[in-house]
Amino acid sequence: MRVDCSCGAGAVVSRTERDKQNPNAADLYCSCTKPECGHSFVASLGFKHSLNLPASFPAGVTLDASVQGTRIFCGCGERATIQKTNRLSINVSDIYCHCSGCGHRFVMYRAYAYTLSPSALTTNELAVALIRSIPPSARRELKQQLSLF
Ligand SMILES: [Zn+2]
Ligand SMILES: [Zn+2]
Repeated sequence: MRVDCSCGAGAVVSRTERDKQNPNAADLYCSCTKPECGHSFVASLGFKHSLNLPASFPAGVTLDASVQGTRIFCGCGERATIQKTNRLSINVSDIYCHCSGCGHRFVMYRAYAYTLSPSALTTNELAVALIRSIPPSARRELKQQLSLF
């Protein structure tokens, strides 16, 4: 499971905690791998929706998925693999998962929750790093939004 820091560098997950309200979600405690940054933060990871249900499943049965540590488990109990991560915005990503046990394909969300200790990078350095880390289409959108100021 890869989590990105707001500076665009990768972050490591030091521990996870199950969400008390939502059994299909967990809080990930992350810290940036870039020594100059030092940002540590909490991201939440949870089940969003199914893309398909296994053909062998009876109609009307729904499957979900849950998080254990930094691993994602399909509702059938098998560990699911991450196929791709789709960054929707700076703080939110969709994670596409597949369970090889039953064939369930589903989407998990990962969202930045809050900062534990702020980055040592300056606001300008962070802004530049951030803009570099987002896809060109999102960059164009951001440019338009910025031009409104
Ligand atoms: Zn960072
Ligand atoms: Zn499964």
